[in-house]
Amino acid sequence: MNWISNYVRPKINSLFSRREVPENLWTKCPECGTMLFHRELADNLNVCTSCDHHMGITPRARFAALFDGGIFTEVKVPEPLIDPLQFRDQKKYPDRMRAAQKATGEKEAMLVAEGEIARTPMVVAAQDFSFMAGSMGMYVGNAIIAAAQRAVEMKRPLVLFSAAGGARMQEGILSLMQMPRTTVAVQMLKEAGLPYVVVLTHPTTGGVTASYAMLGDVQIAEPNALICFAGPRVIEQTIRETLPEGFQRAEYLLDHGMLDRVTHRKKLREELVTVLRLLMRQPPAVAGDLPAPRPEAAASAPAAPAEPVAGPAPAPEKGAPAPEKAAPKAAAKPAAKP
Ligand SMILES: [Zn+2]
Repeated sequence: MNWISNYVRPKINSLFSRREVPENLWTKCPECGTMLFHRELADNLNVCTSCDHHMGITPRARFAALFDGGIFTEVKVPEPLIDPLQFRDQKKYPDRMRAAQKATGEKEAMLVAEGEIARTPMVVAAQDFSFMAGSMGMYVGNAIIAAAQRAVEMKRPLVLFSAAGGARMQEGILSLMQMPRTTVAVQMLKEAGLPYVVVLTHPTTGGVTASYAMLGDVQIAEPNALICFAGPRVIEQTIRETLPEGFQRAEYLLDHGMLDRVTHRKKLREELVTVLRLLMRQPPAVAGDLPAPRPEAAASAPAAPAEPVAGPAPAPEKGAPAPEKAAPKAAAKPAAKP
């Protein structure tokens, strides 16, 4: 990290990637119906100020609120083949892609970044539900592999925020192939003795829950997130029975041993740092390191730097042994090698 990557690059990025002010300045909370002013909502990390409902958040806004000073460096993801099946439903696949790129300002459904959170170096990948429902295609597979490779190369832990409707059907079997590919990527981290922490956000469904989203050493979820393979409606139609309240929601899964934690978005930063420092055998973060970058950092999409981070960060200890599994559920995890 130097002055150019810490300060100049994010500044330039923020100048060029600044998005226009949204036309609708008010957002209605889908849970309680309160009208929320967009700035107030963004300052609160897209969590309803009235009922604490966690709405979707873009990877860029999340990173801006997560990394020290809102500063992070994107990890390059190798480009996959474009539209290998020449797929077409009502629209051609490339047209859908272009529309999604225009709407989100992102290239694809996953963003990978590296940086420091409370002076703890890590690689973070986040899935973008607003980009074609965060669907897992070849790009997302490449992104996870790139993230894992970078983490192993730098001896850093990997944190992954999942949000997906499942596999990208426009890529057919090639999207399903991302399940074993990403599983092998996670195995690479485990073999290197590096922690892999998953934060499941609303909703994480389909093939994503059948692969990398369920392989974390520690599984954290945001409150009330829907986490499932087949959704409740599909199950209800199949078994013709009413499902219990809160079925497949984060709290329900926590009660039934599928998760380790359900954590409020505002507490996530602190919790991730605590967990990762513990697993990397680093001393706990000093109180001064923990406060979030800047409340406004999350307000808009661009990663606007507050000030360059000064001072070296404690490097992860070399050859740290593999962390102990967090829960007995690890035994139920599928074998990684195909
Ligand atoms: Zn609400």
